[in-house]
Amino acid sequence: MSERKLFGKTALVTGGSRGIGRACCLALAEAGADLVINYAGNAAEAENTRALCEQMGVRAVTVKAHVESAAECDELFAATKAFSDTLDILVCNAGITRDDLILRMSDEKYREVTGVCLDGTFNCMKRAAKRMLRQRSGRIIAMSSIVGLRGNAGQVNYAAAKAGVIGMAKSLAKELASRGITVNAVAPGFIDTDMTKAMPEAAEEAAIRAIPMGHAGKPEDVAAAVLFFALPDSGYITGQVLAVDGGMAV
Ligand code: NAP
Repeated sequence: MSERKLFGKTALVTGGSRGIGRACCLALAEAGADLVINYAGNAAEAENTRALCEQMGVRAVTVKAHVESAAECDELFAATKAFSDTLDILVCNAGITRDDLILRMSDEKYREVTGVCLDGTFNCMKRAAKRMLRQRSGRIIAMSSIVGLRGNAGQVNYAAAKAGVIGMAKSLAKELASRGITVNAVAPGFIDTDMTKAMPEAAEEAAIRAIPMGHAGKPEDVAAAVLFFALPDSGYITGQVLAVDGGMAV
């Protein structure tokens, strides 16, 4: 890496143990940032992410917390504070799906998904904003989805949460802009991770057919957009939604 533009910065990535979150951790680490890697239960994968970050010469720590729990988020942010005097970058990436058509969708499936994807984003944004306001600097990047822009049959819970994340990011961008803090969202399309591997084969084939580029994206494709928003050069960009989807949302 020729330039380590995030050297001396600290980033917190929720859901950093696997998939897109891990790729975000690695991209930020490659740019020189120290990493707080949050996960929900998969300690072994989180430790793998940590080891990969440390190989890039940065400090890294793993912290287990369910982002939908305010109490566990308090612990996550306390651990983040103990790790570093500053919190420069927050990536609200943790997410889950529990798909079903609305007549079969239980209240539990609805609440689980909105809990992790929407309430979890609120919990983390609120706590990060408190620290970043004191610093008068910071970058917040929320993980939405093109499903939040376009909707998707079988995903009313997920679509509502991901559309909500965009509204949250745009509103917070306006609240924090005068303090040197940017808030943006990334909206991935169909990315090859454990989340999409769980889809039925027919649904996966239909999703790929809908991509103008003709293939799924990689976690690294999404991480590049997250890194872009985190870099010092992007300080005048806020309240934006960047689709990383091979042209799906066009
Ligand atoms: P993934 O491979 O299933 O990984 C999910 C990550 O979220 C894991 O690190 C997991 O931790 C963590 N997580 C799950 N529940 C959590 C909770 N309650 N609290 C904290 N962390 C939790 O998913 P992915 O495909 O990388 O997706 C990452 C984000 O991108 C999600 O917000 C997803 O909605 C969004 N996205 C994905 C796609 C796609 O095509 N893959 C498209 C659009 C948007 P453990 O490892 O500990 O379980």
